[in-house]
Amino acid sequence: MNTNSSPAGAEVVTLASDLIRIDTTNTGDPDTTVGERSAAEYVAAQLEDVGYQVTYLESAPGRANVITRIPGADPARGALLVHAHLDVVPFDASEWRVHPLSGDVDDGYLWGRGAVDMKHMAAMTLAVARQFKRDGTVPPRDLVLAFVADEEAGGVFGAQWLVKNHPQLFEGVSEAIGEVGGFSVTLADDVRGYLVETAQKGSMWLRLTARGVAGHGSMIGHDNAVAKLAAAVTRLEQHEFPLVLTGPVRDFLTVVGEISGVPFDEDDPQAAVARLGSLSRMIGATLRNTANVTVFQAGYRDNVVPSVAHAVVDGRFLPGQGEILERDVRAVLGPEIELQVRSLPAVETTFDGHLVDRMAAAIRTQDPTARLLPYMLSAATDAKSFQQLGIRNFGFVPLRLPPDLDFTALFHGVDERVPTDALEFGTAVLQSFLSDC
Ligand SMILES: [Zn+2]
Repeated sequence: MNTNSSPAGAEVVTLASDLIRIDTTNTGDPDTTVGERSAAEYVAAQLEDVGYQVTYLESAPGRANVITRIPGADPARGALLVHAHLDVVPFDASEWRVHPLSGDVDDGYLWGRGAVDMKHMAAMTLAVARQFKRDGTVPPRDLVLAFVADEEAGGVFGAQWLVKNHPQLFEGVSEAIGEVGGFSVTLADDVRGYLVETAQKGSMWLRLTARGVAGHGSMIGHDNAVAKLAAAVTRLEQHEFPLVLTGPVRDFLTVVGEISGVPFDEDDPQAAVARLGSLSRMIGATLRNTANVTVFQAGYRDNVVPSVAHAVVDGRFLPGQGEILERDVRAVLGPEIELQVRSLPAVETTFDGHLVDRMAAAIRTQDPTARLLPYMLSAATDAKSFQQLGIRNFGFVPLRLPPDLDFTALFHGVDERVPTDALEFGTAVLQSFLSDC
């Protein structure tokens, strides 16, 4: 398949650019979150334009989700869900080379907030779906396309809401693809590895409270809540959680070693991670549980010692390690710190089976020497919600990237952008993949 001759490839950049120009900034506050309705209406119009029927659902005013089911040749097979979120994180336009809502093409890149997180996938999915309708392509199994709100604030008005309130839309879905994966890293001269997300860490947010004795700031004090909490979070920041080599990380580093010619030494995973360049920040976070303090709140007046202080710790745990992380954090903080814990499970599947074979075959139609690598994402996605329906989740948004691009830094980053030829590549791969999944 030649990407240049594909009509889907020809319209994907326009679709992605149009979506970027619709401001869908998710502030985390429903009152100031904008644009999801306009983006969802745009998506629905693109699908209806070629003859699809869509389900349009608002979980709250403006918090819009669009779902469509493309019937497959064999309804007895489990359906495949393809999901993308339409919201984006906020930006400070003054820091950008181009305006983050411009959706401009320059220097071979499409620029703007959402270019890689993840209006690109929404656009690629739309382009392929539109092409299927024009060609009369019937996929081998049902496809469920979901364009959802609110992923950047946990999916409360998007994936989570749909799974809780409209599970029938996902009836029969056995597998899903979504963010974050499918992008290439150049591991040897002209040999690219494509990362497929097969696991993601669990999330654990811990609200810490320290209590002490209130008093006048001028007097000899004792039992200061602020100082106690500060000491506890400092201990936590200095604590290194034990290294645990999990299956997906071992598999990832083994394949990297094979391709790069530097065999993976299981006794020294950190050295292997250090050789990954810009990717090491993300992969390094999947070698162990982590806990970073993100919020510290205490005090209300210069001359008053408050009786209470609060902090929030963002913890992330490896699959099966939730209780271990909580136990370790409690031990480091000590008995005087009260904890409230809210967590979301890890996600994990195996890197095998027909769907994985098809991912590899589809990528190789465009990049014949490509290798696929399973990996674990350190962050969270809507896969956490879809997992509740018993769905196997993969991160697979195919993109062939130039070797020098620090791709992971573009997520939520300044000057977020995606190569236009990567969008065309991804559309061709997705078309091949969804035609024979
Ligand atoms: Zn995202």
